Amino acid sequence: MAAQPNRIRSRELAKAAMVSIRAWQGGERGKLACPICRQNGLQVLDKSARPHTAWFILACPSCELDEALAIASSAHSSDHD
Ligand SMILES: [Zn+2]
Repeated sequence: MAAQPNRIRSRELAKAAMVSIRAWQGGERGKLACPICRQNGLQVLDKSARPHTAWFILACPSCELDEALAIASSAHSSDHD
């Protein structure tokens, strides 16, 4: 059966995805919740290639989410130490 890939279609899902990405950036591994199905196991890949845009691939083995999100880093000044 051909499961159609899930996509992040709404602002709510994009926000949830951002939360997961932030957690991933904060060092969380292996227990990230999928923004769509809420299962743990979301995988995040940093595909950033440019200084001003961060690309992240979100992949969920539970619901087959496979999405790339671009995040403009200039929109959010980093608050690192
Ligand atoms: Zn999922």
